[in-house]
Amino acid sequence: MSDLRDLYQEVILDHQRHPRNFRVLADATRLQEGYNPLCGDRLILYIKLRDNRIEDIAFQGSGCAISTASASVMTETVKGKTIEEAEALFHAFHELVTGQESSEAKHLPRPALGKLAVFSGVREFPVRVKCATLAWHTLHAALQGRDETVSTE
Ligand code: ZN
Repeated sequence: MSDLRDLYQEVILDHQRHPRNFRVLADATRLQEGYNPLCGDRLILYIKLRDNRIEDIAFQGSGCAISTASASVMTETVKGKTIEEAEALFHAFHELVTGQESSEAKHLPRPALGKLAVFSGVREFPVRVKCATLAWHTLHAALQGRDETVSTE
């Protein structure tokens, strides 16, 4: 467990300092805002969908280390994935950090979590769960085509 905790800290620091895909996507086909009032994390997610696939994805915003790192790892993970694969990852990630399986997730295939697995460390800090899931909830809303700002509250 301590190895995973070291890795967790390493990944979060690395992605906080050097967020991947941290830019504006001029040709985005979906744009979604997310806000976590509990911590003050804000982000805008840009997604370029083509043929049911996330061809490109990027984000902007400001937030704590965990929200920034989670958004960064998320964009890396879902780029190139189909909408269905990304949705399955959303549910798997949610289950990973909350320990709760959603009813929707029962019907979905179990994707490989890869680097996302380090975020299981968030479970030890319940107040941080919303920081870690903000980017994922925002992605979920964007893929569903909702327009309103996503709030974790
Ligand atoms: Zn936060």
